[in-house]
Amino acid sequence: MTHSLFLLPGDGIGTEIMVEVEKVIAWTNAEQLTDFVTDSGLAGGSAYDKHQVAITDEDTAKALAADAVIFGAVGGPKWDNVPYEHRPEAALLRLRKEMAVFANLRPAICYPALADASSLKRELVEGLDILIVRELTGGVYFGEPKTITDLGDGQKRAIDTQVYETYEIDRIARVAFDLARTRNNRVHSADKKNVMKSGVLWDEVVKGVGKDYPDVKLEHILADNAAMQLVRNPKQFDVMVTDNLFGDILSDVAAMLTGSLGMLPSASLGAPDAVTGKRKAFYEPVHGSAPDIAGQGIANPIAMIASFAMALRYSFNMIELADKIEGAIAAVLDDGLRTGDIAQDNRKRVGTEEMGAAILAKLKA
Ligand code: NAD
Repeated sequence: MTHSLFLLPGDGIGTEIMVEVEKVIAWTNAEQLTDFVTDSGLAGGSAYDKHQVAITDEDTAKALAADAVIFGAVGGPKWDNVPYEHRPEAALLRLRKEMAVFANLRPAICYPALADASSLKRELVEGLDILIVRELTGGVYFGEPKTITDLGDGQKRAIDTQVYETYEIDRIARVAFDLARTRNNRVHSADKKNVMKSGVLWDEVVKGVGKDYPDVKLEHILADNAAMQLVRNPKQFDVMVTDNLFGDILSDVAAMLTGSLGMLPSASLGAPDAVTGKRKAFYEPVHGSAPDIAGQGIANPIAMIASFAMALRYSFNMIELADKIEGAIAAVLDDGLRTGDIAQDNRKRVGTEEMGAAILAKLKA
């Protein structure tokens, strides 16, 4: 059965690292491990330069129709002064909204070879493998009212509204429990139920969903304690599910445990289709377009290639192949290959292409 991938390399290093993913796809297809049909489009500044919008209706439609979207990164100083509604990030926001991808998956994996690059001690992070599941389309970033009111006496009042409904918590909790079943069967749910009504509802709904997953151990944790525990003893976690605001912060904390931005993939998933059961899915590295190193051939392609591995795992259930790619990444790191962002003394410094080729060589071996 063929599967469709829509590739949106974007700007800056996005275009350079996507090339390395295309080589991996070409190889998995040639080996008949996959049967991907790929198409690609423009997003961000590159789309603006050609079409004066951050993403065209045509490319948005292709993204909506694809089995998975593989996205590079957008942005750069060249587009700092384009009209606000056409700024590069508008492409991302439009796709997230139209694809209704409400579940953001951010794995934080610490490869043993890179344990010394973490700001924490090796023994705390070596072998770390946790998954933060962040609600992405609700909560305080979107709640209304959202206003700043002039009170007239030199004072202003700013309001953001944290709002969640049962269905939003239910569906993100189910994603977390389902994922825990593919891992170590443990979920921590982080909220602030001690001081927030939305936290009380969050906890109530997550616990209710948990009853459908008796094989998964659910533990509640206050979000502030979760931040503390992530830097104290991160390996105690398996899957952590939390809202948009806390997830934004906790996933960045978890990310930095692993060393470099250039290593971190992510996935954003929508609800299962009523007919096919397939979820809309969007895979991208956590990092941006890195204008400071764009065009030099030195960007780390690992986050991008690992994002493709996440697509294999979560959109196509090709677990073995995903494991194989992640294993190939670990193996080249063990061999001592390093791009600039993860450089270490006495390790071989390589560029984007050489790192991509080394990972491909491990896959072929
Ligand atoms: P960035 O992630 O692009 O870069 C931060 C630092 O990390 C830079 O020094 C960069 O060189 C380095 N870095 C990032 N990825 C790397 C990789 N794969 N290999 C080696 N080094 C890497 O963040 P920034 O500098 O804050 O933003 C640059 C541009 O990217 C801005 O226009 C910003 O708006 C955009 N951005 C886009 C996304 C996205 O597309 N999802 C995310 C974040 C930032």
